[in-house]
Amino acid sequence: MQALVKTQKGVGFLELREVPVPKPGPGEVLIAVKAAGICATDVHVKHDRFPYWPPVVLGHEFSGEIVELGPEVQRFRVGDRVVGEPHTQACGHCYLCRTGNIQICPTKRSPGWGIDGAFTSFLKMPERLLHRIPDDMSFDVAAVVEPTANTVHDVIERAKVEAGDFVVVLGPGPIGLLAGLTARAGGARHVVIIGAPSDEAVRLKKARELGFDTVINLAETNPVEVVQDLTDGIGADLVIDCSGAPPAIASTVDLVRKKGRICAIGLTGRESVSFPWDKAASKVVDIAFCMSTSYTSWDRTINLIASGRIPAGEVVSHRYPLAQWEQAFEEMEAQRTLKVLLIP
Ligand SMILES: [Zn+2]
Ligand SMILES: [Zn+2]
Repeated sequence: MQALVKTQKGVGFLELREVPVPKPGPGEVLIAVKAAGICATDVHVKHDRFPYWPPVVLGHEFSGEIVELGPEVQRFRVGDRVVGEPHTQACGHCYLCRTGNIQICPTKRSPGWGIDGAFTSFLKMPERLLHRIPDDMSFDVAAVVEPTANTVHDVIERAKVEAGDFVVVLGPGPIGLLAGLTARAGGARHVVIIGAPSDEAVRLKKARELGFDTVINLAETNPVEVVQDLTDGIGADLVIDCSGAPPAIASTVDLVRKKGRICAIGLTGRESVSFPWDKAASKVVDIAFCMSTSYTSWDRTINLIASGRIPAGEVVSHRYPLAQWEQAFEEMEAQRTLKVLLIP
């Protein structure tokens, strides 16, 4: 089968290669991949900015159908339509695993960078990490369950959005828009989406289509003034940074109200950034850092999408056959897309 492989360490070294179909071991199933989303992580691996173990098939956001069962599989059958938590090789014994946090176990190696992933026709996965999707959920929509489970974990479980909250999201990429939709599903009364001029053509346009209450282009409007106006000078209850841009991160403290919450999702790619520490202290702000997805976020997410409360499929802007991966990456890196799917 053809697979998109990172062949060795360094910048680039991505190619379509013929690889063998994996054989499911005990407790594992073989999944025919139906759709797989390109994540920023895949782009970072391409550019040698994220840990990975080459040669490795990229891709960790997938949907598919089970086509073969390994020995001792108990909960799944051939024909089941599934998505999967990318927490392979978590040890099961450490403090984090024993406290239900396999997603940050130090031995975890996910499909797509630690072990072979989903930018190919078939993928093997342990059954314990799989979740069934409803019959009427398309595989394209199911492919964005993973990024949506991130925002559900971050915004609902970590930052605890509450009914009636005034929420600000910085960075209108796929995760930012999903964070805004998640906040709305969680009962936010008003969601502000903030982007840069380079976001105007695709991302802020989509934010307006999705009906967010206020959409701000930083080149035209000062978001702190707008938020102060809209909240009678109080500030936002919850500010979510999905941009990873240092000036945006610093501005979260100006946007949030006293005793409000900041939800940190975006990564900066730097060792440190400047942050108004004392101002955050004097505002008595809670900051929730976020990484990956919890077990509890997956079925919650599938239900929120299936019921229409989070229209996650709206963030899919492009789908390409796997053979056109180069064009798909190019468009995505040029920020001309939202979520891009590869179809094997
Ligand atoms: Zn991802
Ligand atoms: Zn562990």
